Amino acid sequence: MLIAGNWKMHGRRTDTGWPARFAEMPRPAHVDVLLCPPATLLAALGPGLGATGVSLGAQDCSAHTDGAHTGDLSAGMLADLGCSHVIVGHSERRTDHGEHDALVRAKAEAALNAGLTPIVCVGETLAQRDAGVAEAIVSEQVRVSRPAAGRYIIAYEPVWAIGTGRSASLEDIALMHAAVRRAAGEAELSVLYGGSVKPDNAASILSLEGVDGALVGGASLDPDEFAAIVAATA
Ligand code: PEP
Repeated sequence: MLIAGNWKMHGRRTDTGWPARFAEMPRPAHVDVLLCPPATLLAALGPGLGATGVSLGAQDCSAHTDGAHTGDLSAGMLADLGCSHVIVGHSERRTDHGEHDALVRAKAEAALNAGLTPIVCVGETLAQRDAGVAEAIVSEQVRVSRPAAGRYIIAYEPVWAIGTGRSASLEDIALMHAAVRRAAGEAELSVLYGGSVKPDNAASILSLEGVDGALVGGASLDPDEFAAIVAATA
């Protein structure tokens, strides 16, 4: 079970008291906790998080190795800062930066080459769900975005559920996680759910068969809410 917090474009150096909060956070033994702050805070938060057993992750990486790519960060640089994971293909990057499945795959492979575990995000829009093509769209995203080899994680995040306070139904989450595994052709694949996971719905989502954890956005910015989600895995 993995509970990953995605701070998105939030946070200042004054937020570096978080490791102390994690130290107090009760954590069931079978749960790994990962925090993905913005790149500006990786160096400041990494050592403190490491001391509490919380892993450090980044929110994106370049598909390239080091070189002439102004403004980008290579997976090797993130590994150098102590990251163990990197999110790739988050729907906000797909929307804001036009990232497509083949690029997401290249980023996932760059992450693996640098020794990081990529968390590959997939998910349908509301229009696609309403048109009845959610499973087909997400299955195709999985087939094209996943790395050819190596250990990766998929985060199923319906786009319409991200940051909206509206999560997918338990039935749909179970169906979509099964579809993700079928598309990947890997029964043992770790699949996280993301999309308005909050303290009040975390226990029911995380107890579903086929749900191996959560990618948490908004609620990861509040230490009490994030702690409650971690505790809901008990
Ligand atoms: C996310 O950022 O991946 C996410 C799921 O956000 P939220 O929990 O706010 O919906």
